Amino acid sequence: MADIEKTVIVGSGPAGWTAAIYAARANLNPLVLAGDGVNRDRMPGGQLMFTTEVENYPGFAEGIDGQKMMDVLQKQARRFGARVQNTYVTRVDFKTRPLSLWHVNDLSGDGEALVRTHSVIVSTGARANYLGLASEKHFENNGVSACAVCDGALPRFRNVPVVVVGGGDSAVEEATYLTKFASLVYLVHRRDTLRASKIMTDRALANQKISPVWNTVVEEVLGTDADGVTGVRTKNLKTGRTGVLPCRGMFAAIGHTPNTAFLKGQVALDGKNYVALQDPFRSTTSVPGVFAGGDCADPVYRQAVTAAGMGCKAALDAERWLAEQGVH
Ligand code: NAP
Repeated sequence: MADIEKTVIVGSGPAGWTAAIYAARANLNPLVLAGDGVNRDRMPGGQLMFTTEVENYPGFAEGIDGQKMMDVLQKQARRFGARVQNTYVTRVDFKTRPLSLWHVNDLSGDGEALVRTHSVIVSTGARANYLGLASEKHFENNGVSACAVCDGALPRFRNVPVVVVGGGDSAVEEATYLTKFASLVYLVHRRDTLRASKIMTDRALANQKISPVWNTVVEEVLGTDADGVTGVRTKNLKTGRTGVLPCRGMFAAIGHTPNTAFLKGQVALDGKNYVALQDPFRSTTSVPGVFAGGDCADPVYRQAVTAAGMGCKAALDAERWLAEQGVH
């Protein structure tokens, strides 16, 4: 049987890497199970891998590219001895000690490998939501996307109208980004006020290429398999009137779901499946020795810098807890 780890960090966004830096510097010899990159939701580095410029992370006066930032954080964690495996955790047993995590066997590619550990830091982030329409699913990767930064520069979206759905920071950020490529960006929102921050709202609404469509929902994505998306059928919630917005792309920017399915029945989650922290000032979860930080445990702030701060707290809590258990 393999050794028992002191601490295993699951996920590798700002929370995971910050936890790894702190845990490594505390001589916990952390193992980071970073994600296997099989799809967007399992990407080492997490959501920032799909962001271009991060302008609000303190310390980068000129901003920093999201991928570069994750690369720098990973290098910083490795410099202090963090070990990293690009693999994906499928299930856990936190009901017996040591704690067990099974991940995709990255040597064979099939089957599972088991890691046993005294403590765990969960920092698995969150993923983008879709509207849930059958037509939206049908046109995924054929004009429908949930990531302007990943897909916006594709030839299919150049010099044509596109739609962004949502009214939060993601929606205005994606709409603004898409104006670099599209001829016009319809910002379709179900209410008549955006919930995005004022500075980003002002910037978006001042942009001549962004056309807000208020009180409106998308009911169907229209198109053909050969041409991809050609429009969206909309409904105005105030008047009940339906219509068609001609466009060649639809970007869903309607929030996120925490990546916590593998914890169900093992760690207490809240009503929206975020990890339920037991103390608002700490990273403790319902399981002693299991700590959480970042977007998987934060339905409110969800910023890179708050995630990093939560990762720091999780590592410090893990360090203290291990010391209390006599694990050195
Ligand atoms: P969000 O703030 O939760 O906004 C989601 C938006 O989608 C809301 O406007 C919501 O409408 C709408 N929506 C939700 N479900 C919908 C549905 N089924 N159909 C139509 N519309 C729907 O999510 P977010 O924009 O992804 O932002 C998440 C967090 O990340 C926020 O704290 C945000 O500040 C932060 N963020 C920051 C930046 C940045 O600073 N650069 C960038 C991106 C995100 P209602 O308004 O009617 O609820």
